[in-house]
Amino acid sequence: MPVRAILLPLLLPALVVAVLVAVLDTPGGALAAALVTLAGSLMALGVSRGNLQRQLDTLALHTRGRAEGALAPTAPDPDQLEEVANLEGAIDTLHARLSAQNTQLTQEARTLTAVLDGMAEGVWVTDAEGTVVRHNDALRDILQPTVSGGLIGQRPLALLRNDELHDAVMRACGEGASTRLELALEGLFPRTLSVRVTPLGRDLPGSAAVFHDITELRHLENVRKDFVANVSHELRTPITAIRGYAETLQGGALNDPVMAPKMVEIIHRQSERLSELVEDLLELSRLESREVRLTLTEVTLAEAAARAADTVRPKAEGKSQRVSLHVPAELRALGDPRAVEQVLLNLLDNAVKYTPAGGRVDVYGACEEDRCVVRVKDTGLGIEPRHLSRIFERFYRVDKGRSRDMGGTGLGLSIVKHLLQAMEGEVKVESQPNEGSTFTIFLPRAAPPKAATG
Ligand code: ADP
Repeated sequence: MPVRAILLPLLLPALVVAVLVAVLDTPGGALAAALVTLAGSLMALGVSRGNLQRQLDTLALHTRGRAEGALAPTAPDPDQLEEVANLEGAIDTLHARLSAQNTQLTQEARTLTAVLDGMAEGVWVTDAEGTVVRHNDALRDILQPTVSGGLIGQRPLALLRNDELHDAVMRACGEGASTRLELALEGLFPRTLSVRVTPLGRDLPGSAAVFHDITELRHLENVRKDFVANVSHELRTPITAIRGYAETLQGGALNDPVMAPKMVEIIHRQSERLSELVEDLLELSRLESREVRLTLTEVTLAEAAARAADTVRPKAEGKSQRVSLHVPAELRALGDPRAVEQVLLNLLDNAVKYTPAGGRVDVYGACEEDRCVVRVKDTGLGIEPRHLSRIFERFYRVDKGRSRDMGGTGLGLSIVKHLLQAMEGEVKVESQPNEGSTFTIFLPRAAPPKAATG
């Protein structure tokens, strides 16, 4: 309460009393006047305090209203004391500044949430004790189904039962140390995660961890390693044979009229195998790197099947097999003619290869909805169910020895799959051991020719 506001009502009546005493010069009158004045002063003080109290109450009400989000009253109070007005002004300024900071903080929090939820990597934040206090959507997806319940309020050890991760989080929280580790999640869908755990910062207790799903990456690395090992092995077999026979010939067998022609024949066969392997590898590599540009046009499937059958017929006849075509002449697919023929050739070649002497190979063509379907059916060895999902992988063979003996490279079906994918088609297989196999290819149907106008 300002001093001026208290003294003024007291001093003014006292001044009046002093004047009255001087004028009247009567002690009794002066006393009465002084008492009246004192009473007046006390009343004035009471009124003034009441006024101040009312204004402070109003100010408190407004301040509370603003804190709760209500707007400040616009009409100024004409009786408001200057000090109260100043106080209200200061509160207004403070309120405006806090509101601006609040808006900025809300925006920053929303941006952060949007960034976290937009990330492909999973992120969690823990408090100083290592308990998860926040995470993004991606983390829930990455950890499912290993972690089925909620993550908030949980400790890493309880969530993922991994000591290494637990230690890393505790080190980040306690010593402020960062750790990178790899986490293997077991279960129905095993996953490999790369995790980086870091402290939040000097002023912020707790840690953050970023989870990156590297399952696919590791899988590709293994595929690449297997591929290199397979290629080396496949190349080494014919090369070893060629070198061995060449050395034997050099060592004197060249002059042996019986052995020399046989050895030269083996060298020739192995060099052909080598060249087939290199051709298949190059074809596959071109397909995988999308270097091959297929020209999609109308393909008459009966013609493509006939050309492929003509190529394998000598081999089939050598095994007394019958190759029959049942492909309607009007069946037209949208594809690359050379690629479609290659697909059918690989399937027919396998059918002849894996069907014992005297067996049958039939090719059926049909139209199903907007797709053309060709089935290559044989009465051969068949494939056990456990191999079916893998035979389209590079170098995968049900029986390695038999495939090699029959001149297979282990790449034929992989090429089939890639060629069909490039033409927006697909391949499926059904097979029963000792009963035979049916490979079915699907290709988009070519648009029917437009009716002639005019
Ligand atoms: P390969 O050169 O060994 O024939 P493919 O990629 O063409 O390689 O085929 C992969 C494997 O699938 C073969 O090794 C064989 O075990 C199996 N396979 C393919 N076609 C048939 C078939 N018609 N009948 C039985 N097994 C087959």
